[in-house]
Amino acid sequence: MASIELTRITPRLHLLDYSVGQAYLWQDGEPGREELTLIDAGWAGLADETAAAIRSAGLDPDRLRRIVLTHCHRDHVGSAQELADRHGAEILAHGLDAPVIRGEAPVPEPHLLDWEVPLLEHGVGVPEAPPTRVDREVEDGEVLDFGGGAVVVHGPGHTPGSIAVHLPRHGVLFAGDTVASVPDVMFGVFHVDRALALDSMRLFAKLGPSVLCCGHGAPVASDTAARLSAAAATATA
Ligand SMILES: [Zn+2]
Repeated sequence: MASIELTRITPRLHLLDYSVGQAYLWQDGEPGREELTLIDAGWAGLADETAAAIRSAGLDPDRLRRIVLTHCHRDHVGSAQELADRHGAEILAHGLDAPVIRGEAPVPEPHLLDWEVPLLEHGVGVPEAPPTRVDREVEDGEVLDFGGGAVVVHGPGHTPGSIAVHLPRHGVLFAGDTVASVPDVMFGVFHVDRALALDSMRLFAKLGPSVLCCGHGAPVASDTAARLSAAAATATA
C-alpha cells in the first residue's frame, strides 16, 4: 500500500504525493473556517490516508467542498468518490472524460512511444479506479468558485477531456498530465493524441504561471513561465 507524502508549496497550496501520481490541496479561508478543494484524488483505496494527510496540514477533511479531476486516469480519479462521499464534496470533470470516469466508456488508449513503454510498466501497481460519479461537467472558460476564481482550460490530447485549472489571482496552474516536471518541465507522457496535447501545452504556456503543478514531478515555482514556454517551444509531437 502506498503512503502519501504531503508538502506545503504556498500557504494555500499543498502537494499530495501518491508515489505514482499526485493531487493538490487548495485552501480558501482561514483554518477553522477553511474551504478545501482537491485537484485530482490519488489512488483508489487511499481515502483514509488522504484525509490523514489533510489533517496533518492542520486542515479538516470535512471541509472538502469539491474535487476537480484533471482527467480520467486511475492515478488521478482513484479515491475521488470515497472522499466525496465521506466528506460531502462535489466531483467535477470535463464532459468528454466524464463517461470514462463514471465507468461507462473505456479508458482511451495512449499513443505510446517506445521509450514510454517501460514507464507505463512502472505504473502497473496503481489499482484501477472504481466507477466514480461526476456531479458537474465543466467546460472550457468556466470559472469555479475557489482560489479567487478558478478558470477551467480545456486542453485535450493527453485525454479528450483533459483540463488545466488556472488561478490567475495566485498565478497557479494545475496542468494535469499534459505537462510533467520529471525532473524538469517537459511534455507529459502517455498522450492519446500527441499533436493535440502539444497544442494544449503551448496554450497553457501562454498563461504564464508562476507556480506550475503537474500530475507527475515536483511543482515548479521559480522561473516558471520561462521554463514552461521553453519546454513547450522545444517539445515535439
Ligand atoms: Zn494521465
